[in-house]
This record gives sequence, C-alpha cells and structure tokens, in this order.
Amino acid sequence: MKIEIDKNAGFCFGVEKAIERAEEELNKNETIYCLGEIVHNGEEIKRLEEKGLKTITYKEYRKLKNATVFLRAHGEPPETYEIARENNIQLVDATCPIVSKLQSRIKSKYNDVKEDDGQIVIYGKEGHAEIKGLVGQTDGQAIVIDHTDNLERIDFNRPVYLYSQTTKSKKAFNEIRTKIEEYFRELKNHDVSKLKFHQTICGQVANRESDIFEFANKHDVILFASGKNSSNGKVLFNVCKNANPRSYFISSVNEVGEKMTENCNSIGISGATSTPSWLLNDIKTKVQSYLS
Ligand code: SF4
Repeated sequence: MKIEIDKNAGFCFGVEKAIERAEEELNKNETIYCLGEIVHNGEEIKRLEEKGLKTITYKEYRKLKNATVFLRAHGEPPETYEIARENNIQLVDATCPIVSKLQSRIKSKYNDVKEDDGQIVIYGKEGHAEIKGLVGQTDGQAIVIDHTDNLERIDFNRPVYLYSQTTKSKKAFNEIRTKIEEYFRELKNHDVSKLKFHQTICGQVANRESDIFEFANKHDVILFASGKNSSNGKVLFNVCKNANPRSYFISSVNEVGEKMTENCNSIGISGATSTPSWLLNDIKTKVQSYLS
C-alpha cells in the first residue's frame, strides 16, 4: 500500500507567515485577540487558542479598547484601522503582502475610474474576509459576483474592471470573463476599451489546481483535509473530485474512516492552503493504523 502526502499541500506562504507571527506574539503576551478566525481550519485554531489566541468578532472588536489585536492574512478594510486609532488598539498586522498589493491596486483603480463612471467588479465570495477588505478600498462600491448567474449586477453600459479574490478558481474566472465579453458584445455601440480583466488569483493557489488534478488522478483514493469554510478548500476539493471520484473531504482526523481506504492500493493525502502539515501527518498515521 502506498500512502503519499501531497508535497504541495499545507499552508500557503501568507498563512504560514501569519501563524509564525501569531506564535511570536503569543510568546510575548498571554492573550492576543485575533479579529476573525486566523485560518479556515478549526484544528489549527484550537491549537493556537490553547496558546492564548482569542478569536473575536467584528462586533466585539468595535467595543474593545487599549488592547492588542492580530489581523490575519486575508486583510482588512480601512474601517478596521480607523477603529484601532480611535480605541487605542495596537495592531499586529499579518495581512499577506500579495493581498495588500491587490488592495492598493483596486483602490488606485477605483480612484482613477470614478470620473468615467467605471465599475470595479470582484469575482469572489460575498462576505468573505478578503472580499470585505477589497470592497473596503472602494468605499463599499465594488460589485461582488461569485457566479455567472450574478452578472445582472453589472451595468454593461458603463466601463467594467474585473478583479478576483486571490483564492478563487482560474477556470471559473475565465468563464465569468467570457460571459461578460458576450453580454458586452450584445450592446449596440460596444467599445472593448471599456472592459479590463485583471486575473488576480494568487500563484500559490492557481498552480495548485493543475498539480492537485494530477495528484488525485494517480491515486486510488484521496483524503482531502480542509476547514469547511475554506474557499480555497472547496475549489481544490472539486478539482480532486473531478479527477478522482473516490475523493473524501475531511475536516479532522476523527473523520477518517476505515471504509474510505478499503480495496485500494494507493492513498493520496492533500489539503487546502489553510491546512496545517501536522494534520496531514496525523491523517497518514491514522490510515497506517488501519493497515497494521
Ligand atoms: S493564498 Fe496567496 S494571497 Fe492568499 S494568503 Fe496565501 S499567499 Fe497570500
């Protein structure tokens, strides 16, 4: 029996840096407040909470004063920084540099195209933390779409500037782009210079789709570990499922069942960019225990 952990699985660079930073701060302070879940992985949150990390909601954050608050890799809208200034909150800002750069690009484009009545459109999950941070760069004006079914939210008589949440699917971005182009061409006096597409999916995620497809294809069974709220986890699991119907989505080692690994010669273990490596190793150990 072959059991292989996907060498490309585990934290992406942004999440890895954020966790390292949180651990450094936890070594200096007994309690650190984290605005929202530090990573979309319940198991990793549990581990850090045992060290003193306290996850707070936005409602709780607004009432907090004179404290230290950790900002996760997803980034934040300007309002979060304003509240910190008003309430004497010291921020430990672990926003991923790739997300910060995207925020700046969107902000500057929004300011540039205001006069032309241009619309900033972002392909992403409404309500997702990264999306809130990106929309915040546009005074809340950006239009969020997560599917080609939502395209009626766009006014095709006005210029369109399409961006993407960093963790979305490249394939779906291209489908949305194609549909927007189709709608636009249906207009009588369409002017293609009014459409601009910026595929801003993070390289760490974009490249993983093709890699994980191959990985899932070469094994009999795939155990894919991810938090249920991870947007990137959903995208990558769908890729696994398409490549290999015997792919199982699991959130903790307790969900690994013996039946999952029956009648097969090779098992692949993979996960999202928010899945810790220790969890992948624990899953491998559990599978080995069924085989011994
Ligand atoms: S997926 Fe990319 S952009 Fe998002 S946190 Fe990870 S490294 Fe940063």
